[in-house]
Amino acid sequence: MLPQKTKVLIVGAGPTGLALAITLQQAGIEHVVIDRLAAGLNTSRAAVIHAHTLETLQPLGVVEDLECRGLQLQHFSVRDGDRALLRLQFDQLPTRFNHILMIPQDETEAVLADQLAALGGAVHRGVSALSVVQEDAGYAVKLDTADGERTVHADYVVGGDGMHSVVRESAGVGFEGDSYADSFVLADVTMNWKTDRDEVAFYLSEEGPIVVAPLPHGHFRVVATVANAPEKPDAALIETIMNERGPKRQQIRVGEVFWSSRFRLHHRVASAYRKGNMFLMGDAAHVHSPAGGQGMNTGLVDAVVLGRLLAGVLKDGRPVTDLDRYEALRRPAALEVVSMADRLTKVALVRSAWGKMLRAAIFGLLNLSSGFKRRIQLSLSGLDRRQFAKLSE
Ligand SMILES: Cc1cc2nc3c(=O)[nH]c(=O)nc-3n(C[C@H](O)[C@H](O)[C@H](O)COP(=O)(O)OP(=O)(O)OC[C@H]3O[C@@H](n4cnc5c(N)ncnc54)[C@H](O)[C@@H]3O)c2cc1C
Repeated sequence: MLPQKTKVLIVGAGPTGLALAITLQQAGIEHVVIDRLAAGLNTSRAAVIHAHTLETLQPLGVVEDLECRGLQLQHFSVRDGDRALLRLQFDQLPTRFNHILMIPQDETEAVLADQLAALGGAVHRGVSALSVVQEDAGYAVKLDTADGERTVHADYVVGGDGMHSVVRESAGVGFEGDSYADSFVLADVTMNWKTDRDEVAFYLSEEGPIVVAPLPHGHFRVVATVANAPEKPDAALIETIMNERGPKRQQIRVGEVFWSSRFRLHHRVASAYRKGNMFLMGDAAHVHSPAGGQGMNTGLVDAVVLGRLLAGVLKDGRPVTDLDRYEALRRPAALEVVSMADRLTKVALVRSAWGKMLRAAIFGLLNLSSGFKRRIQLSLSGLDRRQFAKLSE
């Protein structure tokens, strides 16, 4: 049953909404989480959790379960056919989470939802936020529910409501950026893959790039650029892409497709992360290319940082000015991630023959530089963005 009043209203129970709700629940802060969907999305989408995210999620009590359900990989390579141009080894990362954790997003959300429930929290499902209006003290949030329209009053409102955020729109915050021309296909499949199962492989080829990443249960995630991609890419399309662009010494046979999708890429960052006591996090605040797998990861760190700042002010008597630190910490993190994902995407989408030759030569040279490889590892794992999550002075 929805209350009439709450301290913090979280709009959206995607990964960020759930992570924030856990943080507030642990701190004993009254809150309400709503989601317009009757059940979680149950789709694979973001399939990687990086080391810095695991470090940040550790106090939430979910990491053990995530690691149990996921697949821990040590290697990332850039390949041209059967030849590895660049190879990175994540077991040398300066953290106890010295790996790439592959786990489909629906499983990550299930782990977060289970932990919220175990702590006594809950999501109000089938409830859509229609608008957020400022009132004397706090906000009136108009909701569409199964019993008709309702208004909940909240001191703080957080938009974890994705790219088309109603909270961001109600706050009048801009979402600046652009879109890429290419469309992408994503598919989780089984196939007769003989190459290293301990490696995320990024294949460069004349026909366009592909990423192949092992997932739990013997599945593989395939991501590729495709002009005019179909809405539901099928096994035949993925098999053709794999054989045109992947390893040459092996004929790939794709078996089952468990989930597939196409999408257009955007890169946008909210012009502000806070307006009064309305906050934005996750895709409501930043969207970018999945190159490097940073989207959900950055959002999860946003949520934990915001939760800890809110807990500091609402429970521990910290000054309200502490809340200014949220945007100061997290917006620069998103700008860095957007710029990294943009560079990776542009490198992947080079079209001219000359550009492709140059790219292969550069990767070959970079493979010889341990300093460069370390910088890339720290950037992909998020460990070089630890300072954007640091709350102690
Ligand atoms: C096809 C696809 C593939 C992707 N692949 C990758 C990838 O490989 N790597 C990667 O890092 N990221 C990937 N992403 C992005 C990743 O899924 C997002 O970054 C992540 O889901 C963001 O989490 P979030 O909690 O901010 O928002 P979301 O997951 O979008 O959750 C928002 C929630 O808010 C709810 N909601 C929205 N509006 C309202 C409203 N008005 N009222 C109530 N509830 C509302 C929605 O129902 C939803 O549950 C992919 C996304 C898609 C669509």
